Amino acid sequence: MTDSRVAVVTGASRGLGLETCRRLAERGYRVVLTARREAEGRAAAEALASRGLDVRFHALDVTDVASVRALGHALKAEFGRIDCLVNNAGIFPDPEPGSEGSSIFRADLDTIRRGMETNTLGVVQVCQTLIPLMDGRGRVVNVSSGMGQLSEMNGCCPGYRLSKTALNAVTRILADELRETGLKVNSVCPGWVRTEMGGPEATLSVEEGARGIVWAATLPDDGPSGGFFRRGEPIAW
Ligand code: NDP
Repeated sequence: MTDSRVAVVTGASRGLGLETCRRLAERGYRVVLTARREAEGRAAAEALASRGLDVRFHALDVTDVASVRALGHALKAEFGRIDCLVNNAGIFPDPEPGSEGSSIFRADLDTIRRGMETNTLGVVQVCQTLIPLMDGRGRVVNVSSGMGQLSEMNGCCPGYRLSKTALNAVTRILADELRETGLKVNSVCPGWVRTEMGGPEATLSVEEGARGIVWAATLPDDGPSGGFFRRGEPIAW
């Protein structure tokens, strides 16, 4: 099936972002795979394109406003509009869980700022530039984490936790400001996934982890907005 819809995925040179690109392209989307490291991103996009999928690369560092604006201009020139934005790029800024610095009492505030800069403010910046290209319809997925759930908040790793809780607030704010439009904005926790971030002990494969992201990226017109989901099921904030 061919489909002219355009999907943009951030942080997609590997892991969940790359798998999300693959699955969206298999569903017929024209996919823009973005990554901050050009060689890796370009190689990832070319590998998918060589399998007949409609995937191309654009550079994007979500923390760099010039880079975000350059992507916005390129998308407008190339496609005129986009239909789907997956805010997947993320970092785990804290030291190893269980180590000294992973406690909030010893956390370096610069580490916390770094987490917010990428995982929260990066998403705000990308949304400010790319949502206007969606023409009042489309799907935005903020890839969040159970570690950002207030209802299950525990100690350890304040940089990551705070950034993902704040990201969930971004989802709610966007969804409310866009409630009169056809746009849907949701947070998704992929589960614990075997990627560079999740590590080899994680319980889910990237294929399993990406499923819930793709579900939210391809919601029908009567689908939810302003929610938090894991494997397509609502979870508590
Ligand atoms: P990876 O570490 O494999 O991938 C993260 C990606 O984000 C990399 O491609 C990385 O690029 C990119 N990235 C980091 N900073 C930036 C930036 N400033 N601009 C653009 N890209 C950037 O991790 P996952 O695939 O596991 O993570 C994807 C998302 O899923 C993240 O948001 C993460 O928080 C979330 N998540 C993951 C879980 C898991 O168990 N794996 C659990 C819950 C949530 P680079 O190579 O340049 O560093």
